[in-house]
Amino acid sequence: MAERKVRVRFAPSPTGALHIGGVRTALYNYLFARQHGGDLIFRIEDTDSNRFVPGAEEYIIESFKWLGIKFDEGVSFGGNYGPYRQSERRDIYKKYVNVLLDNGKAYIAFDTPEELEAKRKEVPNFQYDASTRNSMRNSLTMPKEEVDKLIAEGTQYVVRFKIEPNEDVHVHDIIRGEVVINSSILDDKVLYKSADELPTYHLANIVDDHLMEVSHVIRGEEWLPSAPLHVLLYRAFGWEDTMPEFAHLPLLLKPDGNGKLSKRDGDRLGFPVFPLEWHDPKTGEVSSGYRESGYLPEAVINFLALLGWNPGNDQEIMSLDELVKLFDLHRCSKAGAKFDYEKGKWFNHEYILMKSDEEIAGLFMPILKEHGIEAPMETVVTVVGLMKGRVSFIKELWDTCKFFFVAPTEYDEKTVKKRWKEDSTVRMTELADLLESLDDFSLAHQEEVVMKWIEDHGYHMGNIMNAFRLTLVGEGKGPHMFDISAVLGKEETVRRMRRAVEVLK
Ligand code: GLU
Repeated sequence: MAERKVRVRFAPSPTGALHIGGVRTALYNYLFARQHGGDLIFRIEDTDSNRFVPGAEEYIIESFKWLGIKFDEGVSFGGNYGPYRQSERRDIYKKYVNVLLDNGKAYIAFDTPEELEAKRKEVPNFQYDASTRNSMRNSLTMPKEEVDKLIAEGTQYVVRFKIEPNEDVHVHDIIRGEVVINSSILDDKVLYKSADELPTYHLANIVDDHLMEVSHVIRGEEWLPSAPLHVLLYRAFGWEDTMPEFAHLPLLLKPDGNGKLSKRDGDRLGFPVFPLEWHDPKTGEVSSGYRESGYLPEAVINFLALLGWNPGNDQEIMSLDELVKLFDLHRCSKAGAKFDYEKGKWFNHEYILMKSDEEIAGLFMPILKEHGIEAPMETVVTVVGLMKGRVSFIKELWDTCKFFFVAPTEYDEKTVKKRWKEDSTVRMTELADLLESLDDFSLAHQEEVVMKWIEDHGYHMGNIMNAFRLTLVGEGKGPHMFDISAVLGKEETVRRMRRAVEVLK
């Protein structure tokens, strides 16, 4: 048999913001598709109208745009297998529901919610299946005329999948190996509801995977229990030959303790679980996003790629292109992956370091502007070069660097006590005079002249530098002193020194 073209899909339901676990699922699909020269499809599974949330679809599309994950076809991307929004495929599903009804693989059931409820009360652990379906109101137990009559009268019904009991169903999972379950534990799943003329997730999912020629289903572990049913559906349609391969990805776990990562963990521990900020249209609640929190998309991608997969060595920093080369579904773990958000911060720091000072300066500029600072790009690039190693987020650059742009108005009390010696007023006046006399204010020249001055007078180097720092920065932090004075320039340096002397003398 000819090797099948790789076609994978990311198929979210637009029920709210996209969870970070969903982003990882999409990423793994993307890596797999790229690696195999295949296609990545973006399908919207919106057959559950009760859970539809306006804006969710747009939000998901924008998230991937930000992250640099590109789809080949699907909602908003076009393609030859559309429409890609399930709510626009009603006629298709109806046709396939009828196929199953016609070949006896499914049946019509009229049991009302009240009747089902009564049954559940009467029979312990009631399940609608081979052992109970004969005592229910459905097309297997009722005469055909009556069924037709009820339908003609507009009585609501559902279509159920007729699952044959006592059969071992094998799901071959690339990550988990052979998963076997007995069909008797499955219930006769509802595939279609006349009330909204829409299929349920299971039917729509299978029909679309088949029609869209999906070769691999890569999705979260929470869908593993549905997989045997999906295998049976493929078989009921006679589509075994084109059944996709499955890969159920490990869960993302809380950073602390056990259990699935939830939005509450993010709120509790202070990190986003959504790619972008999300404004819930129903509650008005605003949830933080990675983008708005200052993460670089490359860092988020790299961080997520390693939650549940590793390249087999201790390499951690990988670009999207490298990930495409290295990714391997067989190396995904079965066990859940702890969501270590401190590691996420570390990745961001590393990516800030890797990016050029110019690029980071470009991202820092708007923040400076917000604080009313209009500095020349050249200066900002130099400052960023000096300081970016100290931050994990671009926005932290403001607190770390603001002394380059704003002269201190106060002097940190503790530092003053410790660093401003009896002779500091005199020394700093001398130093200000000396610096003012320089024609060449380059870093190298300043350093040379000042070092010589210290040496000639036998001054205490540490004392001079500490006091100097206090005059320019207002506290005891910052990079190399002459880096600071060179950026500030002669005029500003001398002005700050004279002012400090005035205040501290
Ligand atoms: N619509 C499902 C979801 O929201 C898709 C599951 C699957 O990939 O089969 O995740």
